[in-house]
Amino acid sequence: MSIGAASRIDLSTPSPEARARALFVQAFGTEPAAMAFAPGRVNLIGDHVDYCDGLVFPAALSDGCVCAVGPRSGEICAVSAEIDGEPVVDVLSPLTPSDLADLPGWFGYVAGTYEVMRSRFMPGAGGVNIAVASEVPPGSGLSSSASLEVSVATALEALWGIRVDPVEKALACQKAEHEFADTPCGLMDQLVSITGRAGCAVSIDCRDRSATPVPLPPASRASFVIFDSVVSHANGDGGYAERRAACESALPKLGVASLRDFPVEGLAALPADLTDAERDATNHVVTEIDRVRRFQALLAAGKLAEAGALMDESHRSLAEVFRVSCPELDTLAEIVRTQEGVHGARMTGGGFGGWVVALIDTPKIDEVEDAVVRAYRRATKLETTHRVVRPGDGARIIKS
Ligand code: ADP
Ligand code: MG
Repeated sequence: MSIGAASRIDLSTPSPEARARALFVQAFGTEPAAMAFAPGRVNLIGDHVDYCDGLVFPAALSDGCVCAVGPRSGEICAVSAEIDGEPVVDVLSPLTPSDLADLPGWFGYVAGTYEVMRSRFMPGAGGVNIAVASEVPPGSGLSSSASLEVSVATALEALWGIRVDPVEKALACQKAEHEFADTPCGLMDQLVSITGRAGCAVSIDCRDRSATPVPLPPASRASFVIFDSVVSHANGDGGYAERRAACESALPKLGVASLRDFPVEGLAALPADLTDAERDATNHVVTEIDRVRRFQALLAAGKLAEAGALMDESHRSLAEVFRVSCPELDTLAEIVRTQEGVHGARMTGGGFGGWVVALIDTPKIDEVEDAVVRAYRRATKLETTHRVVRPGDGARIIKS
């Protein structure tokens, strides 16, 4: 386990836009030709279902990553405000992951996004200088990786004078992450980073890739607040890949092409030949997709207590059935959930650490935050930080 120093953000630093621009000028001695912003995200409900054709309900944050770009002759060179180094690679056609083998891992997200965007939408594009600066803490479940990829892809659109369809852009970023960062992610993070809308969460159907903004309750009444567990258990020792594999291998035994097609009623009589891992995966995924549907309906009807109860249920399923939580996350979710004014609380993201998201009556937020900080410190000796989620718009060009 690592205690996530990386998950703290100094809010006194200048905006990521100012930092990306300054970094670009410092590294490359000229103003960037184009700049773009792409947000991180928090998933309100529907975790570990995006890779099963499921339904998810994330919101884009108002925090994100800014990418500044400019032309360079024959090479891709990148700098990050958050990480030392200035990796460079020749523009090869095609650029492959093995060309990046000796370069730092984060460069894979950047050069990979360049390569997929170039090969699909701008064959023959020249080299680039890239500077990024982010306010999304890396590796903690708020999707710093997608905001990085989407900011790079969007800055390249501006630089190259092209417009790429939102779903195609999300798929290009996902492919970059699969192939150049070796992470078999779903499409949710990239899609919400592109299609987010202020004041809304985005209802995403991972099967047909539709993304529909849905207004959240008025901020004066209730808000989503996220609390950092301050731990990250490095992908749960391969736990993510194992869980995905169980979702796959259950399918022939269940007689469906996707867990999305398996009815909730069928859970009462699952086939006997499922392994324990396949049974747990089926139970979690099928009930979680059902919870997303019900959550959206309850929220739209203003039934916050009932919606919150589904968040609690979702946490229980992730922790006890799918087992992707950890003791600190469970402790934090329990502390948050039991405060007055909180409708529900759950871990969010891939798990094994990261953040808890809660639905809280807005007038109660300050009181809840104070109580949670104290109780989490008492229970774990860790200092949680928190942010009120102010759902923002998706990726945008800042300069072209
Ligand atoms: P999450 O997306 O939940 O934050 P991931 O493990 O998917 O976590 O992605 C984190 C990785 O993304 C980092 O380890 C790093 O390689 C890359 N990354 C994210 N933000 C930045 C940044 N500002 N500069 C450089 N690399 C970054
Ligand atoms: Mg990620």
